[in-house]
Parts: sequence; C-alpha cells; structure tokens
Amino acid sequence: MKTNLRFIILIILMLVNPLFKAIAQKELSYQAAIDHAYDKYKNLQEGKNADYIKELANVDPNIFGIAIVTTDGKVYSKGDLGQRVSIQSISKVFTLARLIEEQGPRAVAEKIGVDATGLRFNSIVAVELQKGKEINPLVNPGAIAAVSLVKGNDSVAKWKNILDTHNAFAGTKLLLNKPVYISEAGDNLRNQAIAHLLLAYGRMYFDPVQSTDIYTKQCAINVNAKELAVMASTLANGGVNPVTKEKVVSPETCAFTMGIMSTAGLYDDSGQWLYAVGLPAKSGVGGGLIAVCPGKFGIAVISPPLNAAGNSVKAQKAIFDIAKELGVNPFIVTPKK
Ligand code: GLN
Repeated sequence: MKTNLRFIILIILMLVNPLFKAIAQKELSYQAAIDHAYDKYKNLQEGKNADYIKELANVDPNIFGIAIVTTDGKVYSKGDLGQRVSIQSISKVFTLARLIEEQGPRAVAEKIGVDATGLRFNSIVAVELQKGKEINPLVNPGAIAAVSLVKGNDSVAKWKNILDTHNAFAGTKLLLNKPVYISEAGDNLRNQAIAHLLLAYGRMYFDPVQSTDIYTKQCAINVNAKELAVMASTLANGGVNPVTKEKVVSPETCAFTMGIMSTAGLYDDSGQWLYAVGLPAKSGVGGGLIAVCPGKFGIAVISPPLNAAGNSVKAQKAIFDIAKELGVNPFIVTPKK
C-alpha cells in the first residue's frame, strides 16, 4: 500500500511538474515582454498630444502605462497604472458591443455600416461621399449614430446604459473626466455637424445634439491601462469579464465587434496596423490603445503623444513589440509537415 502511494505521488509529480513549469514560463514571458517594451520606449519623445480638444493638450505627455489581463484574470503591468486619461474613441468599441447585443449584427450593418472609410475619424467627406452609408461605428459619424440607436428613451437612460456597459466591461465603476467633457462639449461643432448631416440622410436615430453630447460624455470616461486591459480581455474572453466573471455580452457580439476593430480600429492607419500586428485593436486620442488576442488576453497601453492619424506613437510600438515577443499574430502558423 505504502509503495503504491509513493508510486502514485511520483507519477503525479512527474505529470504536474512540467505543467507547472510551462505555466510559470508563460507568466514570466508576459511580464518580460512588457518590461522589454517599457524599457525600450520609456524615453521615446515622438508624437504630440491631441490639442483640438483643449484639455487634452494639458495631459502629462510622459504618462506611460502597460497592462495585460489574461482571460483567466491574471494581471501583468508596468509603468503609470495610477494615472488615468479620457478613453476617447476606445469607448466606441463598448457602445458598439452593447448595440450589437441589443439589436443584432444586421441592424448595425444596415443602419450604420461596417466598412472602413479610409478617411480621418472625424471626416465629413466620408459621410457625404456615401450619403451616410458605408461608415462604421468606430469613427465619429458611426459612433454618434450608435449612441443614437442604443437603448434608452431619453438621454439620461441612454447615458446610463452606456456607462453601465463600460463599467461591466471594466469590472469597476468608472468616473467621468469632467474637465475633458466640458472642454470638448463646448467645442464640438464638427461632431454636431456630422450628426446633423447623418440626420439629413436619415441615418441619425435620436436627437442629433443630444446624441453628440452623450457621445462626448462617453469619450470623457476616465481609465487607466489596467482598466482598459480588463475591458479588452472581456472581449478576448467571449464577453465574460475575466476578473468579475460577469457575462457582459455574447461571444458572437465579441466576434462582430472585433471584426470591425480589425478593419477600422486605428482609423485610416488600420490596414497598416493589421498588416504589422494581426490583432484587432482600438485607439483613442487620449493616448490609449487596446488590442485583443482572442482566447488569451487583452492588452492596453497609455501614452498621450499621437501620430498624424491620431494614434499613440509609443502605444503602437509597445504593443507591436509585445505581440511579436509573445508570438501571438494569429496569421502566423507553423506549417504542417
Ligand atoms: N472625442 C473625440 C472626438 O470626437 C474622439 C476621437 C478619437 O479618439 N479619435 O473627436
């Protein structure tokens, strides 16, 4: 009996040991990849804070935070995790997911569109060219249309729906960056023009001024890199928040959402991004960038200075390096022998 038990324990250890080793190695590689990118780019001085929203010009350009949250809820990070910036266009992803969940993918394709415009995120020409069709919910016109469509009989109910959705994705109560909201709300005539143009083409589904205002508010939700990474990881995990375990949206909704992130997540640079990295992603002019590795993890980087297309310079470089080091481009496969 005693010999039997020893034998069993030995077998278990042999089985478990390599497994433990593999798990430990994987954990080390996430942290190592983050550390490498952080050290490589922390002193990089390229790009410029957005300043067309006046308050964004005042944000510390040196904020640099990186976080990975795996689909089993483990968190790896480095840098300024205590610092929050406004989520800006990254919010478009979560309102879109809520809308797909409420009305289905077809409604989004028909009432808004799911094609990349190939033009700037706040392009009026993009709306005009196709008479309000063939845009997508990850550029301003489609995002304001998404707000106009999301459930809620009045602007208070719509805003509550949107904020609740963001909170559920993040697994925490997110707060509004009031100075950013006030700054943009007092100066968003261009977005209002877009909303009115959509109305003229029958593609705005609620009051255009109120829709633009709610959209401006959602863009001013304050987040840090870890909160963004949890939001991205909820998409990676089929719509279940990997930390709180709450079911936020369905796996199908995540798939449709990530489809649009792949073609339009970095505005007119989306093609270059997918070409280089292979992961669905979304940027915001606050300096945040998220990417999703389906089934594995969500990653987020915050660094305010942007390139000409409005995407964070350091965040793009950091995620590019980390994804490469971790070998997670889904388009790279080992050929069968
Ligand atoms: N609130 C910003 C705007 O409407 C969001 C743009 C962005 O992040 N690209 O201009």
